[in-house]
Amino acid sequence: MQEITDKAHTLLKSRYLLEDVKSHSLESPEQMFSRVAVAVGNAEKNYRTHQSKSFWEGRFFELMRNYLFLPNSTTLINAGKPFQQLCACFVLPVSDDKAAMDECMRVSAMIQENSGGTGYDLSGLNPRGETTLKGESYKGPIDFIRQIDSLTEIIMKPGRRKGANMGALHVSHPDIEEFVNAKVSGSDFQNFNISVGITDEFMQAMFQDKVFELIHPESGEVIRKIPAKYLWKSIVRQAWWNGDPGILFLDEINRHNPTPSLGRITGTNPCGEVPLLPYEACNLGSLNLAKMVALPFSKSSFINWKKLGETVNTAIRFLDNVIDVNNYPIPQIEFMAKGNRKVGLGVMGWADMLIRLGIPYTSNEAIELASKIMKFIKEKSWNASFDLALEREPFPNWEKSIYYPMQPLRNATCTAIAPTGSISFLAEVSPSIEPLFTLNNRQEYQLKNQTPQSLNPALESILTSRGLYSKGIIDRICAEGKLKNIPGLPEDLKELFKTAQEVPFQIHLKHQLAFQNHTDNAISKTINLPESATMTEVDWAFKMAWYGGAKGVTVYRNRSKEHQPFESIDGQ
Ligand code: UDP
Repeated sequence: MQEITDKAHTLLKSRYLLEDVKSHSLESPEQMFSRVAVAVGNAEKNYRTHQSKSFWEGRFFELMRNYLFLPNSTTLINAGKPFQQLCACFVLPVSDDKAAMDECMRVSAMIQENSGGTGYDLSGLNPRGETTLKGESYKGPIDFIRQIDSLTEIIMKPGRRKGANMGALHVSHPDIEEFVNAKVSGSDFQNFNISVGITDEFMQAMFQDKVFELIHPESGEVIRKIPAKYLWKSIVRQAWWNGDPGILFLDEINRHNPTPSLGRITGTNPCGEVPLLPYEACNLGSLNLAKMVALPFSKSSFINWKKLGETVNTAIRFLDNVIDVNNYPIPQIEFMAKGNRKVGLGVMGWADMLIRLGIPYTSNEAIELASKIMKFIKEKSWNASFDLALEREPFPNWEKSIYYPMQPLRNATCTAIAPTGSISFLAEVSPSIEPLFTLNNRQEYQLKNQTPQSLNPALESILTSRGLYSKGIIDRICAEGKLKNIPGLPEDLKELFKTAQEVPFQIHLKHQLAFQNHTDNAISKTINLPESATMTEVDWAFKMAWYGGAKGVTVYRNRSKEHQPFESIDGQ
């Protein structure tokens, strides 16, 4: 069993462990995992299975306690509570209708009070300033963002996970320019990610330097024509300036929509890894790839495929159970979530896995392995979902899905790669498929009373085994956060431990695309750029993402937001 360090324990205590009114923990980390395993195991009662409920509870506990797999934070926090909202990802419909808007606010508040996040497609809202039949003015998409952003701020309580939001707007909406420029400074709409929903038609118009029509969402009238290139440049400039907006490639998303007869997908959850229909929800969980390496840090290290396959199998069952025991805020969401039974199994600790295998993140070998690993996970998760379909039933909308009749599945989607911002911290591995952000763990998570400095444990172990460990070197690495400028360290180590901003944007993208190729949903990945990156690089990153078949893309240039969550010491 993995030792739970003080750092992980501090986070567990501040957010996950059950507490009494005086904030005293009522459970140990083991008891938390047991609470989750029992709550999720309860779904077994609904089905006739070969194994007993306690068998599965035991398996679920083992997976979590050994940090082979963790469900997303919402499941860890809320399992076993009276209102058991275990999903973190929702998409809600938005319209100008007053009653519908009030309902959207009410449901958003419920979701966020229970540590979930919500995405909204704002494209159906009438343009700002246009007059309604009653002579009032429509407020438009930006005002909607403002309202939800304030709601999130009000709901936020100490120790609770802050709700996150995603606002998407179709590139042909008349307010698109205002939307693209909505986040001028890092402090604007801090609880919102914004994304432009881009179509292939727009991309063609941009490449051919044509004008693009902005269309009224209700009447379908052409309101204005603007040069597609001009709009594209505004998007690139803003993303270069402070990371927002990101892009959603709507046609690519819909080429993989498992249930097109139920509607076109135009929104995603807050971090973008799950494209969803209105009222859909998805629950996430992540495999810890670092734990799948046998004989780590040695020349004989290898991937334990059997262990990975078995973990995927149990994890899919776990996530499918979550759908049954989950409490949904409103019946419409329950209906959609249970109709498609989407789950999103992803990964964390990818960079750590590579380090344990001695493969640099920047190498072709790493990209090839990314493809191989995710292909394996996808196949195993589809096998698990197929077995569950036979044991339980295919998802209720299966007959309306692209899988019918050849491929019975229990879940309309099985895989998604989430950012794992908190759970990777609990498991003490690199988040999601990102490279290491820094080699000095000091800033990896902002927690009160956290130990001031600690070296990346993998690096520490390699330095020790190679006789390179000295106080001088450690102090220097802790001060700089990377190895690049430190004399006396071998080149192979400098290559193996390249940090996010030392990794060229093309390599970031190649990892994203390699994983995306074998992921049912999408990937939450930030293309990290050094502060010196140019707009041309952002332009290239976006275009390469579209060519490569990404479902979305986000960039972040170092220091481009005043209050950036992670920061390397020298700002490079
Ligand atoms: N999320 C949220 N608030 C947060 C972080 C995450 O609502 O502060 C939701 C959001 O839908 C996001 C999903 O949780 O896309 C997964 O995020 P992450 O993997 O970082 O969550 P973790 O399980 O690590 O807390």
